[in-house]
Amino acid sequence: MSDPSTRKHSGHRSLLRHIREIMAAKGTAQYRLDALVKAIASNLHADVCSLYLRRPDASMELWATQGLDPNAVHVTRLGAGEGLVGEIVRLSRPLNLTEAPTHSAFSFHPETAEDPFHGFLGVPVLRGGRLLGVLAVQSREARHYSNDDVEALQNVSMVLAEIVSSGDLLSASELANVAVRPSRAESLTGRRISDGLAVGQAVLHDPGRVKTILIADDPEAEKTRLEDAILDLRHSVDTLYQGKGNRLGGPSRAVLEAYRMFANDQGWLDRLCEAAGSGLSAEAAVERVRGEHRARLLSAKDPYLRERLHDLEDLANRLLRHLGAVDELAELPENAILVARAIGPAELLEFDRSRLKALVLEEGSPTSHAAIVARALRLPVVGHATGLLDRVSPGDTLLVDAEEGIVSIRPDAPTEEQFRIRVDERRQRRAAYARLRDKPARTKDGQRITLAMNAGLRVDLPQLEETGAEGIGLFRTEFQFLLSDHLPRLTEQTQLYRDVLDAAGERPVVFRTLDLGGDKVLPYVAHERESNPALGWRAMRMALDRPGLLRYQFRALIDATGGRELNIMFPLITTLMEFRTARALLDAEIKRMARFGYTIPAKVRVGSMVETPAIVWQLESLLKEADFVSVGANDLMQYFFAADRENSRVAERYDILNTGSLRMLGHIANVCQQSMRPVSVCGEIAGQGVEAAALIALGFTALSVPPDSVGPVKRMILSLDQKDLGIKLAEWVAEAQTNVRENLLDYARTSGLAL
Ligand code: PEP
Ligand code: MG
Repeated sequence: MSDPSTRKHSGHRSLLRHIREIMAAKGTAQYRLDALVKAIASNLHADVCSLYLRRPDASMELWATQGLDPNAVHVTRLGAGEGLVGEIVRLSRPLNLTEAPTHSAFSFHPETAEDPFHGFLGVPVLRGGRLLGVLAVQSREARHYSNDDVEALQNVSMVLAEIVSSGDLLSASELANVAVRPSRAESLTGRRISDGLAVGQAVLHDPGRVKTILIADDPEAEKTRLEDAILDLRHSVDTLYQGKGNRLGGPSRAVLEAYRMFANDQGWLDRLCEAAGSGLSAEAAVERVRGEHRARLLSAKDPYLRERLHDLEDLANRLLRHLGAVDELAELPENAILVARAIGPAELLEFDRSRLKALVLEEGSPTSHAAIVARALRLPVVGHATGLLDRVSPGDTLLVDAEEGIVSIRPDAPTEEQFRIRVDERRQRRAAYARLRDKPARTKDGQRITLAMNAGLRVDLPQLEETGAEGIGLFRTEFQFLLSDHLPRLTEQTQLYRDVLDAAGERPVVFRTLDLGGDKVLPYVAHERESNPALGWRAMRMALDRPGLLRYQFRALIDATGGRELNIMFPLITTLMEFRTARALLDAEIKRMARFGYTIPAKVRVGSMVETPAIVWQLESLLKEADFVSVGANDLMQYFFAADRENSRVAERYDILNTGSLRMLGHIANVCQQSMRPVSVCGEIAGQGVEAAALIALGFTALSVPPDSVGPVKRMILSLDQKDLGIKLAEWVAEAQTNVRENLLDYARTSGLAL
């Protein structure tokens, strides 16, 4: 007896074969599309079959029909969102209606003579999640099309999508009227993630190109191939999950859990096998199901659902690899701009930096790990470019303006020319900064400013030499932990710290102990979800509750120092007791290591970050115990303004050049001066011209900034009269001037301050 699923598919398989013949036949595109709709109508016993293709203006044009008035072909155009076709566009999903005229979206076009039709089934024609058109069948009587019919129409639409977008079917002039790929110049505004400008060619961060055999000669064999590939996939996901073979920066445990769940999800597997069993090749089946998910993803608003659909898409990509369907990652073109939904930090490190010019992300936040790596690589990045993947095609020219957070897609010639002038100007500015490398940072009125840099990765280290930074004012030790897929071993930690100290030579390095928690969650450590992570169990709170990790880190730091000077700093100190407890742990560790015969640092200086308003108002007491402090303005301002630095709606809502925050910062500078304790500022503001000028005017004489900011900030310092601006700033703050920033910008214009 034959398998019922085989029987049920046999009619539709013959449809796919028929379509292959039609498409391979000679004749114009119109002739072939007419034959195609006729074959579908006949196979599905429908009275009408119509194909609508999307025009560049997003309207839907009737391209071929069997059953509607042929004179309506190329005449009927449905506006964006109009009618049932518009509804399918909106949903990117099939619409199966027994009584179409009763649907709220139904609209009537007299020229098509579609009045008497009731049963309706329409499916989107999707390619790579992008909608190219709609394929619909209708019947005179009220009819609910079967799941098999839906399946068959989706398969045909998938084949059609491939053929239309391959460019083989339509002539160049016809293609110009179809939105196969967007051709208009567009620009997207996202967020600046890593500063810079770049011109280049879009490369989609995709698993590669899927081979184009779409229709299976032997559907049973295809099903078996697919089932084998699914078994392989499950096995490989399990292996990854068990930690074997998970490379640095591979998917996190949470993502692997989602992979595992989907790899065993019967619904997903059934959809794949159905698609393969119905006559598509195994690759085309995966591609079809992936395309449907992708289309849903592009319209999904719920971030959780989007995240899961992304996971599912990644899994489909893996499945394609198991099918051997994917060409290996081709070499990047000379000026590649990587376009991705999101990217892992380690993945980013794998690209050839000499060819990769910029990164544009549909998602991504400035504090994401990839952003940190990108900054270290000096790779311009724009994130939060919503709709990016829907608009960019491989090979498109892109202008990435990561100074303003704008991406121009397929720019016209004058726009590109203007942009290239800006790129050139930027290059010249950078060359000018390089010439300042060995010049001490001293204001016009003689105040020496110590200009150090922030770091956290090995790739940052060469920047010490290149920028002329006077040391590392903040080494974020948690980066090593965040980039690893396991807790870094003692030897790994020690080696990194030793490399940092070796690279710095005579220059001082301040190591900040682990600042985990909040947004910096380790994928391999169980973590409870917190409703308010910025105010939660993070940094020192976590370290003091679980001192094992901190003591381990102390050991690595002491050992790496090997008799040199050790500067250590604690994050997010909120009470004196926290500082004391941490310091006592460090002292105990030093004693313990001395007992075991380790070389002890020649000198140990212990400092505290000033990141909470609570510690600002205990600063005099803290400075009796701390050897130095550093203002972590990113967090301090987050807590001062009660505005989450991770939340783009509020992160930039309040200007830190506000009299309230400037008073607080001025208070810190004064107390440190009176206590004769060194203080620096290491939050992002220290690297921004206007803000850095204000900090120096308030009395701060040490800044630690991202490597790329060393040059620009030094240039500003050389043109600044600290006393003069100090007097002005004090007046503005005393008068509670609301617009200190504008005053400062005016001041810069009239005084020649180079911001
Ligand atoms: C800060 O908060 O300003 C800071 C330097 O620490 P991080 O950005 O790593 O939280
Ligand atoms: Mg901080």
